[in-house]
Amino acid sequence: MTSQPRRIAGFALRGLAAAIALGLAAGASAAGKPVTWDDIANDQSSTGDVLQYGLGVKAQRYSPLKKLNPATVKNLVPAWSFSFGGEKQRGQEGQAIVHDGTVYVTASYSRFYALDARTGQKKWEYEHRLPDDIRPCCDVVNRGPAIYGNKVFFGTLDAGIVALDKDTGKVVWKEKFEDHKIGYTMTGAPTLVKDRTTGRVLLIHGSSGDEFGVVGRLYARDPDTGDEVWMRPFVEGHIGRLNGKDSTPTGNPKAPSWPDDASSPTGKVEAWSHGGGAPWQSASFDIENNMVVIGAGNPAPWNGWKRTKPGDDPRNWESLFTSGQAYVDAGTGELKGFYQHTPNDAWDFSGNNEIILFEYKDPKTGRQVKAGAHADRNGFFFVTDRSKLADGSGYPNKPTALIAAYPFVDGINWAKGFDLKTGKPIEPDGADSLRPPLPKDGAEKGEAKFVSPPFLGAKNWNPMSYSPDTGLFYIAGNEWAEDYWTENLTYKAGSAYLGQGFRIKKLFEDHVGVIEALDPVTGKVAWKVKEKFPMWSGTLTTAGGLVFTGTGDGFVKALDARTGKELWKFQTGAGIVAAPITWEQDGEQYVGIHSGYGGAVPLWGGDMAALTKQLQQGGSYWVFKLPKDAASR
Ligand code: CA
Ligand code: CA
Repeated sequence: MTSQPRRIAGFALRGLAAAIALGLAAGASAAGKPVTWDDIANDQSSTGDVLQYGLGVKAQRYSPLKKLNPATVKNLVPAWSFSFGGEKQRGQEGQAIVHDGTVYVTASYSRFYALDARTGQKKWEYEHRLPDDIRPCCDVVNRGPAIYGNKVFFGTLDAGIVALDKDTGKVVWKEKFEDHKIGYTMTGAPTLVKDRTTGRVLLIHGSSGDEFGVVGRLYARDPDTGDEVWMRPFVEGHIGRLNGKDSTPTGNPKAPSWPDDASSPTGKVEAWSHGGGAPWQSASFDIENNMVVIGAGNPAPWNGWKRTKPGDDPRNWESLFTSGQAYVDAGTGELKGFYQHTPNDAWDFSGNNEIILFEYKDPKTGRQVKAGAHADRNGFFFVTDRSKLADGSGYPNKPTALIAAYPFVDGINWAKGFDLKTGKPIEPDGADSLRPPLPKDGAEKGEAKFVSPPFLGAKNWNPMSYSPDTGLFYIAGNEWAEDYWTENLTYKAGSAYLGQGFRIKKLFEDHVGVIEALDPVTGKVAWKVKEKFPMWSGTLTTAGGLVFTGTGDGFVKALDARTGKELWKFQTGAGIVAAPITWEQDGEQYVGIHSGYGGAVPLWGGDMAALTKQLQQGGSYWVFKLPKDAASR
């Protein structure tokens, strides 16, 4: 692809004429190759591009590329680096898309760049104009774009979604889908699905905002116009929409999992009206079952007593459909199945982390299981039966869909494990309960409990990967804890709606972060390595037998997928909190990742915020490649 003309303002006349001539030449070949649904459906096996968040609709973050492997990875060298520039650094939590020789990359503060995949030269940029009063809870991050047809899409911090012409960066449509002043925002990458019943391709996205008491909603849009096709709220009893009309209430209104709240000064049911559940990460797509699969956020407020009938045991309440995994019909937006990881979540564990779709053979029955895998902030790794979650029968919180729940970090104390019959956690009883008690009469705060994992989670948003070759999941997690107590609160639009206080603490002297490989059939951890700083990067795995990730102290690392041995690393100059990708171009294998420290830890992390003060901020995209002549060395 030829280089595009840059800004022409300020050029001398001769330069201007040359730029116009270049523009005409570029214009003639400007309409690049459109992306089809088949391209997206085949993304996991096509090595020349990266088209979907998660490197395919199953979100496995697995590449069939083998040029880079334990023998050759030592020859991986930087190809180029691109600075996002300006004073707007902060956390870079993105995953890039690659298509037709272009890398599409989003950055903090709702910025978007198209870069030449070979040279890193900028083709165009789009900077979204943000109002002053946006309310992102956990840094001004963006997790990446989507691509379809001749457009690229991304979410903006003012609760908007924008479609740009992929070749020029010009705005095609913009939708502001919620009010940012009351806490709605968008940080997650949208994804594409194709509804089997209508044959329509749909753009799927959610929002963030649980810390401000929004009602979480999932949206499906026409990618050509931005028009909403359906919307599904994730708080029980709120009404969905389909084709511009009210559709159905979420869940079963006859079996309420939220209590009435007679003490509410507004006369309404306060918590239910501001109940959270926001699906702020990205959806996977179960093609066989026509299901959008996505995690729902924590119930709001964090204080679980607001969501429990006074005097009752909080474990009798669920606050559906929050802190769990949701299966939503792609055609209608109906909630067909749900499994809740943390019933009546009192710890902001949320259920947002990605659900990776995979298949395995049950060693007892020999049956091929179509499963979902999810490593939750609550410290347990869930394997669920997605055929059961997709069948739409009965009350949609299906404990029978739970196959296994394995602890994947050390130090978990809020639950001893899960009862596979009921699907519920086994929590300590009575005085040992780690649901922090209400403040005693007249006090501002309740007694503090020492809880692990803390609300930042055994693993946060940073996505894991799955290798069908090794049968292992690669998780970047954290082993830490918090002091956690209740506080009094009432809802005020646009203010934090928590009712909890906290201080994040170390659990081990030598490490916070861990990178590990977990077997989903046995629950055994095949290997685990420690990192001094919290892990906030995703992982990528390849048929070459490698795992790539990034660390808070600025390294991109390649580990041996079978042993965890560190085989290669490179210092990018700023902390890494992003999701790596790999692709092939001109017969060479490339690896790309954002560099730039930030995210929730420095803002909310207590003792961990102090620990990570020494880490470098930044804002750039790094690309590495294995040169042809080094592939066999
Ligand atoms: Ca691909
Ligand atoms: Ca939350």
